[in-house]
Amino acid sequence: MNKYLKQLIELSEIDKEIDAFGPKIETVEKELKNVVKKQDDLIAKKESCIEDKKENELKIRQHELHLAELSEKLNSISKKSSAIKSEKEMKALQLEEDITKEQLDFANEEIERLQKANEIKNEFIADIEEEIEEVSKIVEETKKEIEAKLKELEKNREEIYAKREKLLSKINQKILEFYHKVRKWAGNTTVVPVKKQACYGCYMKINDKTYASVIKSEDIVTCPHCGRILYIEETTEES
Ligand SMILES: [Zn+2]
Repeated sequence: MNKYLKQLIELSEIDKEIDAFGPKIETVEKELKNVVKKQDDLIAKKESCIEDKKENELKIRQHELHLAELSEKLNSISKKSSAIKSEKEMKALQLEEDITKEQLDFANEEIERLQKANEIKNEFIADIEEEIEEVSKIVEETKKEIEAKLKELEKNREEIYAKREKLLSKINQKILEFYHKVRKWAGNTTVVPVKKQACYGCYMKINDKTYASVIKSEDIVTCPHCGRILYIEETTEES
């Protein structure tokens, strides 16, 4: 195979690997983002529970104030009843007393209901706190794992950049310029194999003459349709 072509195949593989680092890093970082999000969601859930509880407590306080007012009212009713003269007055007072007692019952029921609701909220908060503790352990572990993974990726990246530098120092400048010109639009499919007499960049069949030159591998041959650099895979034919 043409020496330059061999170099370009190698270079395109290296460039592909370099391009793959971004998504690899993203995937690793996403892992951490996911667990951190889980932790944040739980914390938000806990906070909203605490808010609900506070609101209930405020309502309880209001009902208690109302209760105090109502029992004062009952006191004054019972005082008034001793000074009653007519039956009409007595009936009116009786009605007022009934209504006040009803309000009192209602306030007591509401307090009880809200207190029960808050007990349930307390249990719920305790459960969430347990979950938060578990998740924060996972977050810490994931952080460590990810740090190691990123370090490894960084090491690989440095190695591959070094490999690229070494290769670039050997490649003919004109050939390299040509490679970069194609790469500008073809990206990671700048150098593509020919399979079943078709270019694996644009998937169009190439003519017999071009195909013969590709097989010979004496020159750098480009696809007559798209302009990508072509080569025949040496080891494996198609699978
Ligand atoms: Zn093509």
